[in-house]
Amino acid sequence: MKIHIDRELCMGSGSCQFFAPHTFDLDAECKAVVSNPEGDPSTAIQSAASSCPTRAIELVEADG
Ligand code: SF4
Repeated sequence: MKIHIDRELCMGSGSCQFFAPHTFDLDAECKAVVSNPEGDPSTAIQSAASSCPTRAIELVEADG
């Protein structure tokens, strides 16, 4: 699964990090970054994406 974060949309809520703490991190600008695209189960990553208040996270299936 590929994870794309739109930094313009990200407002640093940290929800993604809450649901998938081994996948998402916040950088010095309080914007989400992917620390490890396979850090958490895909269900947790999907929860993280759907929890994003600004819909900044896009998930793309690797073979899709
Ligand atoms: S949940 Fe969305 S807005 Fe919040 S830190 Fe993650 S990407 Fe940014």
